[in-house]
Amino acid sequence: MSQGLRLVLFGPPGAGKGTQAQLLKDWLKVPHISSGDLFRHHLRQGTPLGLEAKGYMNKGELVPDSVTIDIVLDKVLSISDDEGFILDGFPRNPHQANELEKALVGNSRNVDKVVHIHVSQPELLRRLGGRLVCRGCQAPSSLGEGEDIGSKKCSQCGGELYQREDDNPEAVKRRIEIYREETEPVLGFYRERGVLVDIPGDNTVDEVNKQVISAIAP
Ligand code: AMP
Repeated sequence: MSQGLRLVLFGPPGAGKGTQAQLLKDWLKVPHISSGDLFRHHLRQGTPLGLEAKGYMNKGELVPDSVTIDIVLDKVLSISDDEGFILDGFPRNPHQANELEKALVGNSRNVDKVVHIHVSQPELLRRLGGRLVCRGCQAPSSLGEGEDIGSKKCSQCGGELYQREDDNPEAVKRRIEIYREETEPVLGFYRERGVLVDIPGDNTVDEVNKQVISAIAP
C-alpha cells in the first residue's frame, strides 16, 4: 500500500492555509490537523488547556511550547504511519520543527513536503479584516463588499459564521510580527532538508490551489 503524503502548509496568518487545507484534504484523502483549531476546540469546551491558551491567542501571541508541542504531537502520532496528514499552523518556531522531526523520524519518516504560501502584507491585512470562520466545521470564508455577517452561512455545511477574536487589528499586527520573528526562520530548517516549495499566494483560491497541487504532485 502506498503511503499518504505528510504535508505542512506554511505561511503567515491570512495566507490561506486553512482554505487550501479544506480543498486538499478531500483530494489527498488525508486528515487535516490545525493547531489553531485544536486550541479553539479546547477553548469552546472550556478545558484548562483552552483557558490557558485563550490569553495568548486573543493577544496574538504564541501559546508556550510546553503546552503546544504535546497536544499537536499527540494528534500527529495518533495517525497511522501510512495515512499521511496536512498540518497547518505547526511548526511555528524552530524548536517545534525539531520536536516534530524527532517525533516523526523516531516513529517512521519525516514530513514529505512543506508548501510555503507567501502573501504581501497589504493583502494579509485585507483578508484578515474580512475573514469569517464556521462555528460548525471551522472552514474559513470571507465577507464580500456590502455583505452582512448575519445573512451569510458557511458554504461547506451551512453553519453559523463568526469573526475570530484574534482577527482584530491589534492582534493581527502582533501575529504578523511574530510570524516574521519566530516562524519565518523555520523556512531555513526545511530548505536545508530539501522539502520546501514556495508558492505565491496573492492570487485567487483556485489559482493558489492549482499551484499547490502541482507542487505536491508526484
Ligand atoms: P491559527 O488558527 O493558526 O491562526 O492559530 C491561532 C492562535 O493559536 C495563534 O495566534 C496562537 O496563539 C495559537 N497557536 C496555533 N498554533 C500554534 C503553534 N504552533 N504554536 C504556538 N501557538 C499556536
